[in-house]
Amino acid sequence: MILLITHYFFPIFAQQINYNRINMNSVSQRIQALSPSQTLAMSQKSAELRSQGIDVINMSVGEPDFNTPDHIKEAAKKAIDDNFTFYTPVGGYLSLRKAICDKMKNENGREFTPDQIVVSNGAKQSLCNAILSIINPGDEVIIPTPAWVSYVEMVKLAEGVNVLVPASVEQDFKITPAQLEAAITPKTKMVLLCSPSNPTGSVYTREELKALADVLAKYPEIIILSDEIYEHINYTGEFCSIAEFPEVADRVVTVNGVSKAYAMTGWRIGFLAAPLWIAKATQKLQGQYSSNPSSVAQKAAEAAYVGSQDCIEEMRKAFERRRNLIVELLGEIPGLRINNPQGAFYIFPEVSAYFGKKNGDAVIKDSHDLSMYLLEEAHVATVEGAAFCAPDYIRLSYATSDENIKEAVARIKVALAKLA
Ligand code: PMP
Ligand code: GLU
Repeated sequence: MILLITHYFFPIFAQQINYNRINMNSVSQRIQALSPSQTLAMSQKSAELRSQGIDVINMSVGEPDFNTPDHIKEAAKKAIDDNFTFYTPVGGYLSLRKAICDKMKNENGREFTPDQIVVSNGAKQSLCNAILSIINPGDEVIIPTPAWVSYVEMVKLAEGVNVLVPASVEQDFKITPAQLEAAITPKTKMVLLCSPSNPTGSVYTREELKALADVLAKYPEIIILSDEIYEHINYTGEFCSIAEFPEVADRVVTVNGVSKAYAMTGWRIGFLAAPLWIAKATQKLQGQYSSNPSSVAQKAAEAAYVGSQDCIEEMRKAFERRRNLIVELLGEIPGLRINNPQGAFYIFPEVSAYFGKKNGDAVIKDSHDLSMYLLEEAHVATVEGAAFCAPDYIRLSYATSDENIKEAVARIKVALAKLA
């Protein structure tokens, strides 16, 4: 009876929805062409295994394992009490953009006005904003590889063409000026640089960046997108940005944020500092699809930039100690070729010596198989190199405790020794 009444008054409730008409093919081609983020997927997989009671050590996702410093958390709590709860300007509160200008001046020796700063939901959105605002269909973007998972996907979203320039472990994963110049064509619109690098930990020296800037000085139409999110996780004692060279400075878009330096990955605050025309374009884009990033998180980020910077050095020291530990331990495993990473918290061993080997039913054809084998056999989550356009490698994040690093590498050693 109730059903009959429902059917009479609200026929829509009683209708059978034909889901068969709506399927994967209805997803836009743009999204079908996109690969899911392997770093996030692997991390999720390891969380699922942990929830089943399996003791997985997660070395897949790259995020500091430290809590956000207390003074930053207090600023967020105060922001709520002080009612910083309304929409903010699309590109972020003026006070935060001023704090970022001060940071850029004091730490990087670069002058910006607040309207050249656009704050977004993490450096990830800042990068995507820049790419979508600059790249037309068919424009070429030069990406040195190994490269962080999202760059090529963002370029695909913009219908640009990825021009990958490989650099192997033998060259410490850094491209040479000759490689850069060989990749430039009349269609090149952008070059993407990431130093310190995810996934390799390599850091370009001042001389190396100067040599790349000298090449780019000859091509004034090329925009340089400089991802500096690991600026403070650096073991060389010196950070250098390509933007420091006057011959290219006026066309560098710098991306940075609070995620890594201040252990604030979940707060989602990043920014770009750019020539005004680019900042305005990205702000227009952001104004139409996400508006301002969280008001409370912005206040926390402001506290991070204006407050004591001691927390950065404490965490950096811990990462450096762990870098030393993992380099030493992985160096004892036969068949792994590693560099000595100078920044970030990743190490990227070349693992092809294990391809073609097996342990029972587990056959290792490539780094995907090896990464899955390590998850199943050693219960250590890593990320396959193909996700970073470097299929002979795997990535391990050492942003975890010394105990976890020791245990994980010991397990990896045992699992790899079983492959024959
Ligand atoms: N660039 C690189 C190289 C990264 O590793 C990350 C970390 N995901 C990002 C950008 C994005 O950082 P955020 O958390 O600020 O979005
Ligand atoms: N930067 C981290 C990583 O590479 C976070 C995950 C992501 O955003 O891809 O693991």
